[in-house]
Amino acid sequence: MTSYGMFQLSPEHEMIRQAARDFAQKEIAPIAAQFDETGEFPYTTIKKMGEMGFMGIEVPEEYGGAGMDTLAYVLALEEICKADASHGTIMSVNNSLFCHGLLKFGSEEIKKKYVYAVASGQAIGAYSLTEPMSGSDAGNMRSRAVRQGDHYVLNGRKSWVTSAPVAEYIVVFNMTDPEKKQRGITAFVIETDKPGFIRGKKEPKLGIRASATSEIVFEDYRVPVENRLGEEGDGFKIAMTVLDAGRIGIASQALGIAEAAYEASVEYAKEREAFGHKIGEFQGISFKLADMKTHIEAARLLTYNAALAKERSKKTGERYTLEASMAKLFASETAMFVSHAAVQIHAGLGYSKELPVERYFRDAKITEIYEGTSEIQRMVISRMETGLR
Ligand SMILES: Cc1cc2nc3c(=O)[nH]c(=O)nc-3n(C[C@H](O)[C@H](O)[C@H](O)COP(=O)(O)OP(=O)(O)OC[C@H]3O[C@@H](n4cnc5c(N)ncnc54)[C@H](O)[C@@H]3O)c2cc1C
Repeated sequence: MTSYGMFQLSPEHEMIRQAARDFAQKEIAPIAAQFDETGEFPYTTIKKMGEMGFMGIEVPEEYGGAGMDTLAYVLALEEICKADASHGTIMSVNNSLFCHGLLKFGSEEIKKKYVYAVASGQAIGAYSLTEPMSGSDAGNMRSRAVRQGDHYVLNGRKSWVTSAPVAEYIVVFNMTDPEKKQRGITAFVIETDKPGFIRGKKEPKLGIRASATSEIVFEDYRVPVENRLGEEGDGFKIAMTVLDAGRIGIASQALGIAEAAYEASVEYAKEREAFGHKIGEFQGISFKLADMKTHIEAARLLTYNAALAKERSKKTGERYTLEASMAKLFASETAMFVSHAAVQIHAGLGYSKELPVERYFRDAKITEIYEGTSEIQRMVISRMETGLR
């Protein structure tokens, strides 16, 4: 049985980690560079991941999922991201941002229809909060939802929606009462094959290039009242609650990227020679490796700790915002630190597309940006500690 400090992995945890590792190394790692280069969406491997239960790891089996716990999700996502962060992004949106929110705030009908489809791998989900003029300041959004009888009519433009070019269903946040600002936002689950839904420009990205990202536009899109999550005005609370779960996923993603960059660096430091020595014998390199390893293990403990806090919250109902934000902040900065050092250790080869190290470096950066930038995580953590705004 593997243990990390206070964390003991059960046989079920070992099993899902091994299954994810085997799949990721056999099926994803060999194609990652090609999909990074072309920016194509990796339909075949994503479909297989759905069939293996990776798109709804914590979703109960009755709603199409694998019925496992948060630590199982974190371990599987870490392994997928170690092979390719783009696959991990798609997986984490389906699990955390789509299924988790709908399970927590959706009606029975919503769970049976939309959670089932995404968790079982038959459909792809997305989450749309950001707009061109509001990212960190999500409460300042401009898109509108106006109730007309048993429907709401949606209008507006949302930006940076992961998986939007391919998603069948999207959780979308629109303003129903602009005067109330954050308290005037309402959440809906929408279907992308209905009139009034338009896919906008696809974003050409620095990293996670195989995960499709685009704008979406609503022009008099009609969504039934039954597709609302919670009550009118609950949207901001729902968005933030869902992001608590999402941030644990991004911490796992960052951890996977960092591990891949670190392992490549250790191997290279043991082989590459300069001035008649293995480069790993130079203190300038070996101290880098020591710092990389130490950061990774600290990030792991914070990430697994956040997973356990989320698991506990299923019984107690307590929020795990602090644990999730600390894990996301530290693990994402670790991914950036470690992948930057990995490029330096590989030097010229680290800068070449012949090795995946430059991809780890480009992919690591997103973990400091989406689902709340590092600055926003620091705001969340410090506000919780001081009680000040
Ligand atoms: C590849 C990618 C995928 C994404 N996927 C999704 C998705 O699926 N769904 C979705 O809704 N969004 C998604 N996003 C959007 C992402 O969440 C936002 O980019 C992020 O929240 C930051 O918003 P912004 O880019 O508008 O930056 P801004 O909010 O404009 O921030 C600009 C800078 O100012 C800083 N800043 C802002 N406010 C403060 C403050 N109060 N104190 C200190 N510093 C501050 C920020 O940290 C940042 O450094 C994605 C983004 C990318 C790049």
